[in-house]
Amino acid sequence: MTPARPLILYDTTLRDGMQREGMSVSVDEKLRIAVRVADLGVKVIEGGFPGSNPKDEEFFRKLQRQALGDAEVAVFGMTRGRGATADNDRQLRVLADCWAPIATVVGKTWDLHVQKVLRVDRDENLRMIAESVGFLRRQGKRVFYDAEHFFDAYAAHPEYALACLRAAAEAGAESVCLCDTNGAALPMMVAEAVEHVVSALGGACGVGIHAHNDAGCAVANSLVAVAHGAHLVQGTINGYGERCGNADLCSIIPALKLKMGIDCVSGADLAKLTDTAHFVAELCNVAPDPHQPYVGHNAFAHKGGMHIAAVERDPATFEHIAPALVGNSPRVLLSELSGRATIAQRVRRLGYPVSEEKELADRLLKRIKEKEHIGYHYEAADASFELLLRAELGLKVELFHLETFRIIVEKREDGETTSEATVKVHVDGERYLETAEGNGPVNALDKALRMAIERRFPEVHDIRLINYSVRILDEDRGTAATTRVLIDSSDGHDTWGSVGVGENVVEASWQALVDSISYGLLRRLGEERVPAGGEPDREQHSEPEPASDGSMDDDQEAGRDDYRETR
Ligand SMILES: [Zn+2]
Repeated sequence: MTPARPLILYDTTLRDGMQREGMSVSVDEKLRIAVRVADLGVKVIEGGFPGSNPKDEEFFRKLQRQALGDAEVAVFGMTRGRGATADNDRQLRVLADCWAPIATVVGKTWDLHVQKVLRVDRDENLRMIAESVGFLRRQGKRVFYDAEHFFDAYAAHPEYALACLRAAAEAGAESVCLCDTNGAALPMMVAEAVEHVVSALGGACGVGIHAHNDAGCAVANSLVAVAHGAHLVQGTINGYGERCGNADLCSIIPALKLKMGIDCVSGADLAKLTDTAHFVAELCNVAPDPHQPYVGHNAFAHKGGMHIAAVERDPATFEHIAPALVGNSPRVLLSELSGRATIAQRVRRLGYPVSEEKELADRLLKRIKEKEHIGYHYEAADASFELLLRAELGLKVELFHLETFRIIVEKREDGETTSEATVKVHVDGERYLETAEGNGPVNALDKALRMAIERRFPEVHDIRLINYSVRILDEDRGTAATTRVLIDSSDGHDTWGSVGVGENVVEASWQALVDSISYGLLRRLGEERVPAGGEPDREQHSEPEPASDGSMDDDQEAGRDDYRETR
């Protein structure tokens, strides 16, 4: 069933999403998130409550001046306090005075909460809802009513839960949003309740859904609600939210658009989904989940040789949608089990035009087998693989050359341990020497290397190490064992993995670090992929852009989009 009203996507990343543990973003980061979410075609952006602290006030002040396209901003607050009047409720006054055109008010719906938490009688709660909505309407706001704990309320006393919704609808709410605050609902319950509410309200106002993921059903519940007549869907980018998170808009949007035929965003906007998801993750300082549906790095990764051959003939065989529709791309995972065809396909997908494909694939396969024999592993190390390929093609791989590094680890009497690394590298004949301290040897090495090359490659500031893991390969040798280090890095746009192997964990880490940074820099510098007539490792490379403040400006971002399209 298609909803009679146009579907409204409502983003609450900046309010409910911020409840996720460890989340802390600055005012400017919040603004950048709002801009990107609006650019995705989301129609309502909830900014939070403007009056609780100076940071929120500043955010709303800046947000007012920010162009957000077609998106509108909602302020969020609660129904009036008990025993007060709506007109003299301080908090409702803040909502009324805010410039945002939409006010979302949350109120109690579950009589257990009405009596135990709010400690008012059922009728007073209905008056609190009606008077709050009515007051904000008179102040010229469009009002959305969030019915807290709706599904628990509906299971306990459906008539009272409906009475709360009616109180909001009759007072002029544009939508009542059914909130699964505890995240416990299952799709069957949501389907039944939404259908009942839609028919009981008889079109007097719209019905929305706000799902949490405690039962693992937030996305399913949101889609089921729409299928049964809801016209507003609240969610967050990447499903951020407290406990198990909120409904993930990154899954909801493509499902609505591509699978349910609901035109909630344009095709061009949908293609920004993966970038938006990674951008928000980056600003929130959360490592992107590689297994996230639609937008994850592995969402369209193929491993088995048969899968890969089938996808090559017809992607529909193993891909549920064309990855490009959501701005993602397919990946081919490599291992020593891979055949020549797999490697040839991976090379083509990376955009390297190769004339002697078979021969190259054979050479690469041989190299990979040799490397895997001594412990390397390329499935999660796409950057190291691409560097291996570049070397095989005679393309530039080395941007800087190591003379030496030295690490001192000092354990002091007071129990503190410090690490200091000195790195000497050469870039185009110039020698650079830097020393840095870190909380561990690898951290110190990473810092010293970045300092040593930053004058020549200021882009190194845009590359961030997001994950570092060490695995012991031959466990029976104890502390003498060979170690494999995997590093994931990101430039706020894409993530990549690199690998290093050695009996010394610092040496293994150095290899992975160098691959990770070299690969990131080569991407940023736009090193082209066509082999230069078989010439080995050309000496010249494009000059780095002048130093920036480390943030991405529009031109840089546009440039990276171009780069991405060649992949
Ligand atoms: Zn919530």
